[in-house]
Amino acid sequence: PLPDARGHVVLDEVTFGYGAGRTILPEFTLDIPAGQTVALVGTTGAGKSTLAKLVSRFYDPTEGRVMLDGVDLRELDARDLRRAIVMVTQEAYLFSGTVADNIALGRPDASLDEIVAAAEAVGADGFIRSLPDGYHTDVNKRGGRVSAGQRQLISFARAFLANPAVLILDEATASLDIPSERAIQEALQTLLADRTAIIIAHRLSTVAIADRVLVMEHGRIIEDGAPETL
Ligand code: ATP
Ligand code: MG
Repeated sequence: PLPDARGHVVLDEVTFGYGAGRTILPEFTLDIPAGQTVALVGTTGAGKSTLAKLVSRFYDPTEGRVMLDGVDLRELDARDLRRAIVMVTQEAYLFSGTVADNIALGRPDASLDEIVAAAEAVGADGFIRSLPDGYHTDVNKRGGRVSAGQRQLISFARAFLANPAVLILDEATASLDIPSERAIQEALQTLLADRTAIIIAHRLSTVAIADRVLVMEHGRIIEDGAPETL
C-alpha cells in the first residue's frame, strides 16, 4: 500500500439513489478500520454493488461523505485515488494483449520480474508458464484461452501488483472445479494480507476468512459481526 494511505474507510451518513430514482442507501454509516477484511452478503438488490461503487468513487453520494483515512474521496487527486482503492469485478476482465500486459494494467511501469513475482504470489505462475508463449501469450489468440478460474487468478495478480491500500472485490459467481476453487481461495488469502478489503462474497469459504461479515437488506446493515457469530 501507499505509505500515505493506510486504508481506513468511513461512510458517514451516506444517502444515495440512482438519478432521480428511489433511495438505495439511506443514511448509511459504516466504519472499516485499516486492514480489516469485510465480507458483504445479502439478497439480490440489497445494495452491495452500489456500496462498492461508492467506496471506489464510481459514484458520489447524494448526501454524506465517503472517506479514506479521514479525507473525503472527492478531495483526493484522481491518480492517488486510483492507486489507493482498486476494485476487482466479477467479469475479471482481460483486454487484448499478453498475459504480462494484463497483469501490469494498473502498473505500466512494472518490470517483468515484478509481474512474475505478483503471479507467483497468487499462485498463477504455474499455469501461465504452461501457456504457449508463457507471459507473452496473447490472451485472445488460439492457445491463449484461459478458464474462468485462471482469469480470476490473473486479475488477482493484477491487484497484487497494484498493491492498493483498499481492495474491493465483487467475487465471481461462476462455479469452479475443486482445484481451481482451492487455488482461488489461497490466492485470496495472500491478496487480502496487509490491506483493507471489502468483498461481496458468494462463497462460504470467503465469508469464513473475513474478519467481519455485514448482512445487507434494502440498503441497510441488518447484521454485523465475526463470521462465527452469524
Ligand atoms: P446483486 O446481489 O444482485 O448483485 P446488489 O446487492 O449488488 O445485488 P445493487 O446492484 O447495488 O444490488 O442494486 C441495488 C438497487 O439499485 C437495486 O434495486 C437495483 O435495481 C438498483 N440499481 C442498481 N444499479 C442501478 C443503475 N445503474 N440504475 C438504476 N438503478 C440501479
Ligand atoms: Mg451486485
